[in-house]
Amino acid sequence: MIWNQNKECMSTDEMRALQGRRLHKIVKYVYHNVPFYRNKLQEMDVTPDDIRSIEDIHKLPFTTKQDLRDNYPFGLQAAPKSEVIRVHASSGTTGNPTIVGYTRKDIEVWSECMTRCLTAYGVSRDDIFSVAYGYGLFTGGLGAHYGVENLGAAVVPTSTGNTEKHVRLIRDLGITGIACTPSYALYLAETMDHMGISKNDIRLRVGAFGAEPWTESMRTEIESRLGLKGFNLYGLSEIMGPCVSYECQEQHGSHICEDHFFPEIIDPETLQPLPYGEVGELVFTTLTKEGMPLLRYRTKDLCSLMNDPCPCGRTSVRMGRILGRSDDMLIIRGINVFPSQVESVVLSMPEFAPRYLLVIDRVNNLDTLQVQVEVRQEYFTEQFDTLGALGTLEKRLANKLKSVLSISAKVQLKAPGTIERSQGKSKFVLDKRQLK
Ligand code: ADP
Ligand code: ZN
Repeated sequence: MIWNQNKECMSTDEMRALQGRRLHKIVKYVYHNVPFYRNKLQEMDVTPDDIRSIEDIHKLPFTTKQDLRDNYPFGLQAAPKSEVIRVHASSGTTGNPTIVGYTRKDIEVWSECMTRCLTAYGVSRDDIFSVAYGYGLFTGGLGAHYGVENLGAAVVPTSTGNTEKHVRLIRDLGITGIACTPSYALYLAETMDHMGISKNDIRLRVGAFGAEPWTESMRTEIESRLGLKGFNLYGLSEIMGPCVSYECQEQHGSHICEDHFFPEIIDPETLQPLPYGEVGELVFTTLTKEGMPLLRYRTKDLCSLMNDPCPCGRTSVRMGRILGRSDDMLIIRGINVFPSQVESVVLSMPEFAPRYLLVIDRVNNLDTLQVQVEVRQEYFTEQFDTLGALGTLEKRLANKLKSVLSISAKVQLKAPGTIERSQGKSKFVLDKRQLK
């Protein structure tokens, strides 16, 4: 099913024309309402009348998270205070939170886009849907919530916390859909195991997972343990919240709501646009936002864009998986290391659970990398008494890591369930170097 046939399946020419008209309007709007943008545009000698088509976007300045912080809290707000009906903040994964105000129309657009996502996942009015993203300043909870209501399915606002109660609700109410972080989905599966509840006792069939990077192997794991089909849901508070892009049944990239959020991929070093298919930093321009519209916002998320036709019938540009954040990149002994590289190695070995932590430190001016990883329960019990089995496993992992990362890491195997669980976004890195 497609929620908004008109917008989701618009011909590319029509879409570019619509985007061009909207871009002109939004540039005019920020020029007159946000001194920060007026100054930037004047410095670059650009007026709103210079922006006539979507190709003109290259004439516009970029916006960074630092710009948002410098203008904390409401400096980039375009709508008058009386028009703002809700305020959220980004979760501050990489620093101080940034504040975003939404007008009534922004909330409507958000709900509309979120409903497009849910419909693409196969959710309908007949579903009972649990929103297990945190409710509060974080956009996940309320963002997903309003989408479910707008669709007309029944929303169960479980939020995070009390996971056993949540599992009982899933079973007792016959909950069929869930939105949460992929790591929380795994935590839910573990809690079910402890409670002796199997996937055959519940009716979950659709999962909307996002807010943090995840991999195909995590998808397989979650799907087999919870008995559902898991879909990607992407978004960020600066641009809106969850709803910016979503997977369809083809699960080959995530369709972007590009009538509202115009995507570009740039080289994070040279800031030059990159062609479809190449990995770089994802940049969004909000085309219709009233509260805090942003021009060419640098997300720091690394991925590629695709524009080949999708068999589902939607014509929108799709984005590939987020491969990391450009500021996620660790430099260890001068070598670039992404946590996702470690994850892919860990998950390629069946002995390990998808639970790991990178601990980086500096000893005698030399960076050290330790990778802690949980051994799966089955393997742990079976091999625990076998002399040397765990030691051999440790060595195998260390060798694989070395060949992928090009630096050596000290491996520490952990007993099942001993790496700290998070109910929101997981922490995969502990960089002790910054603490000194
Ligand atoms: P913060 O930047 O403080 O974490 P947000 O709560 O707005 O702020 O989170 C947005 C970020 O979360 C995105 O920029 C992206 O890095 C990550 N994210 C959101 N959804 C996904 C997803 N489906 N896959 C990978 N990463 C995601
Ligand atoms: Zn599709």
